[in-house]
This record gives sequence, structure tokens and C-alpha cells, in this order.
Amino acid sequence: MPIRKRSILLRDLRNYLTFLKDYGFSEIPSESGVTLELPSGTKGLPYSSIDTDKTSHMKTNKNITAKPNISIENVREELGDCTRCNLHKDRKTIVFGSGNPHADLVFVGEGPGADEDEQGFPFVGRAGRKLTEIIEKGMNLRREEDTYICNIVKCRPPNNRDPKPDEIAACNPFLIRQLQAIRPKAIVALGKPAASTLLGRTVPIMKERGNWYEYEGIPLMLTLHPAYLLRAYTIENRRNVMNDMNKVLTKLKR
Ligand code: SF4
Repeated sequence: MPIRKRSILLRDLRNYLTFLKDYGFSEIPSESGVTLELPSGTKGLPYSSIDTDKTSHMKTNKNITAKPNISIENVREELGDCTRCNLHKDRKTIVFGSGNPHADLVFVGEGPGADEDEQGFPFVGRAGRKLTEIIEKGMNLRREEDTYICNIVKCRPPNNRDPKPDEIAACNPFLIRQLQAIRPKAIVALGKPAASTLLGRTVPIMKERGNWYEYEGIPLMLTLHPAYLLRAYTIENRRNVMNDMNKVLTKLKR
């Protein structure tokens, strides 16, 4: 097998094993009866899932605030015309992210929908308009100037299904790199898949929203996804999201 193909296979395998470990698996049963133990290590989806020589320094540096010398443009270049997971097959556009690459605040959503796939920007459909309203009317910030917005997967899952674990695992190194490049003062996870990916465990979002966590040293707030908010447009949900955003503003001292 050509070396390049083998290294891609090994990278994908390692990403997948890392993902299983982060989701609580400690071993893999095999038909031979031999049980393979997954190596113990850090919680969360670690930098070791990034597989390029260019990023090898990240493998020992687990703190985003340690400021690796990368820019958002570097990360976009590394991503390239990505075919690392099956989502590339049906996408029209890679939806990398948008906003200020030096923003204090980053919103992380789940994945692009049809409008985003068409236009190449995150959160531009109905849910996106709701997010813009939350940012601009609710928080009194400017979406493009004061925030950066991206998703855990950069390509649209067909029929807007949830991204699969192996797809999230394949794309996660680039989310990590984006956050490393931006080094915001706070991150907001929009909805369960984003919260679960950033915390490396399954998050019951209705229970845990509104609480502060940490993602590699950066304060992380969990809140409802704007698409969910539109579906369940109750006074309680709207109030909860605004309470969450007020906590973020306090953290940013705005
Ligand atoms: S979702 Fe991410 S890993 Fe998968 S093809 Fe798109 S950019 Fe690549």
C-alpha cells in the first residue's frame, strides 16, 4: 500500500479510536477474543487527533491559551478541499466559519444547513437570523466584528441529519485549530452536539445549559441552538437563552 494512503488510513483510525475513548469506551472487543484496551489519556477530544507534521507541536501542548503561532488562514489552508470524511460527497461548499478571527467571543454550532451549504457561510438561514438577532439585539454586539461563528463539522450532513461520530472526529482537529488561532475570552456552544463535542461527553443540554464549563482554559457557556429555539419558541426558552447570553456579557465585562 502506498505510504500516503497508509498514513491517511492510520490517521482516520487514530481519530476514530480517540473519539471512542472520549465518548467513554475503554476497550474494543475483537472476534479473536482478544480485548484491545484504548490508551488512557486526557479527557475531551485531544490535539493528538491532528495528524500532520506541521502540527506535531500541538500534541504536547494541550492548552489553547498557550498561543500556538497559527492564524485562521493557516487553519483554512490546512483544511484545503477536505475529503477526510463522507460529508464531502454531498456538500456544495465547505462552511469554514465567519466573523472576526480576533474576536473575544466564539459561537460553535452543529453543522451547515442548506442555506449555509449554498452560500458558504455559517448561520445564514432562519436559525442564523435568530442567532444574529440574539447577538445584535439581545447582546448589543456586532455579529461580524465582535464574534466568530463556526460549526463542529464544516460540511452539510445530508437531509440535515445529525453529524456522525466519525465525521465529528474527522473535523474536530480543525475546530480545535480554529479556537487555538482565535483564542477567545469565551466560547458559546449552541445545542447538544456542539456542547458534547467540546466537553467530550454526552451533554444533556436542557439540564446543563446556562452553566459555565472550561474548554482548554477558556470559559465555555452551553445554551440552546437557535433552531431549537425557533421550534420551541416559548417564553421560558427565550428567557433562558437571554439569561445565558447575559452571563457571557458579564464574563466579557461588557
Ligand atoms: S466535515 Fe470536516 S472533515 Fe468532513 S469533509 Fe467536511 S471539512 Fe472535511
